[in-house]
Amino acid sequence: MTEIFKGSFTQQEPIPDDGIAAALEVMRSGRLHRYNLAEGEIGETGLLEREFAAYLGAKYALAVASGGYALATALRAVGVGPGDKVLTNAFTLAPVPGSIASIGAVPVFVGVTAGLTIDLDDLAAKADQAKVLMLSHMRGHLCDMDRLMAICGQAGITVIEDCAHTMGAAWNGRASGRDGLIGCYSTQTYKHMNSGEGGFLVTDDDEVMARATILSGSYMLYERNGTVPPPDMFERVKYDTPNVSGRMDHLRAAILRPQLQMLDSQCAAWNARYECVEQGLRGTPGLTVIDRPTEEKYVGSSIQFLLLDWTSEAIADVLTRCRKRGVELKWFGGAEPTGFTSRYDSWRYAPSEPMPETDRILRGIIDMRLPLTFSLEDCALIARIIRAEVGAVWQAT
Ligand SMILES: *Cc1c(COP(=O)(O)O)cnc(C)c1O
Repeated sequence: MTEIFKGSFTQQEPIPDDGIAAALEVMRSGRLHRYNLAEGEIGETGLLEREFAAYLGAKYALAVASGGYALATALRAVGVGPGDKVLTNAFTLAPVPGSIASIGAVPVFVGVTAGLTIDLDDLAAKADQAKVLMLSHMRGHLCDMDRLMAICGQAGITVIEDCAHTMGAAWNGRASGRDGLIGCYSTQTYKHMNSGEGGFLVTDDDEVMARATILSGSYMLYERNGTVPPPDMFERVKYDTPNVSGRMDHLRAAILRPQLQMLDSQCAAWNARYECVEQGLRGTPGLTVIDRPTEEKYVGSSIQFLLLDWTSEAIADVLTRCRKRGVELKWFGGAEPTGFTSRYDSWRYAPSEPMPETDRILRGIIDMRLPLTFSLEDCALIARIIRAEVGAVWQAT
């Protein structure tokens, strides 16, 4: 009998009941805007900022409208402007180069290793080309952050971290997003907390936080934020920092606060699913599992493997066979951008030099989501299906 998987790869868990109750409370109050507060009230958004900053051990957190907005705001807050070059990963998601392009800056792509992290040798070679690195921890893979920070420190490069897939992760005991000057997070539906759309920016830097707060659309009400730098910092920056509205509202903050309380246990649940699939795939001929470094505490909300040096036809065949059995795999190597996947050479607004080693890896990356609505039995079944179909195509070629 051929086993078929019947679950949905895009079905997330419901919002926790206490989040729904808090959201109803906000709606009943009518005060949805973050700066619409009763006397003495901090509000859901301000409280969420305090709690998120505390979770990460950061001085400041700013809740915003999306992860992509957090990235663009971070770039603006450190003074990146039109025509400036910004180093970033060749393997990432479109909103990352998009955030750079959105302010008229120019992405300079850095290659990817077989471990799916930024190629630090390539970074060192390109370190003289830009003053800022937008580092994307794509699909939750953390590079050697100790070496990366040493390279960037030596070259005088400011690091902004895109932690859309590493909320709850850590390198060598340091929370992801805390090595760079700024860490950016997303609370879009497919990330680690779900408010539909949303994001955060965290930093310990007074000036960055003051600028980011005004950029986010605080008007001159910034003292109502959850975590606020000293007043004289605002006096210094408030006349030359534009207001680019992208605030988070109380409604989203209300449904996020209970999710933050559950984040660590959710991460453990993802990792149980990840380890189950990984175990099921290990040893499949022709398939390369991504080994995770011991310094990395990851969050397995998705899993990747490589079909290295396979032909496009054979990879397409595996994807079709798996889809027929209910398993949705994504291929980052396809020449045409589809769904969420695209390659650095798909972003034609940002011209790039070909990177043969990176292209070889990209052509082989297969990606799969692991929503928490999957049981461990589901995960074991999915792994059996992938193993069988990869094996069948491998044998035929
Ligand atoms: C989702 C995502 C973002 C941006 O988040 P949005 O909230 O969708 O704007 C940035 N980087 C990566 C790698 C992502 O997956």
